[in-house]
Amino acid sequence: MAVPQNRVTKSRRNMRRSHDALVAGNPAECSNCGELKRPHHVCGACGHYDSREVVALAKEVDVDEDAA
Ligand SMILES: [Zn+2]
Repeated sequence: MAVPQNRVTKSRRNMRRSHDALVAGNPAECSNCGELKRPHHVCGACGHYDSREVVALAKEVDVDEDAA
């Protein structure tokens, strides 16, 4: 089994990890509601994609409470 020849100090480890942070890249404005969204993804705020509604929001769906 491979064994590290030298101990990696906290300083060196943390310097390596200084580049590991995730970044939210290139937000795009929703053409329907103007909310920032990920490009090529359905808008999380209004459910629109390519100027039409593709995902209905739960508050807009007419749920029949006593159907069951
Ligand atoms: Zn939207």
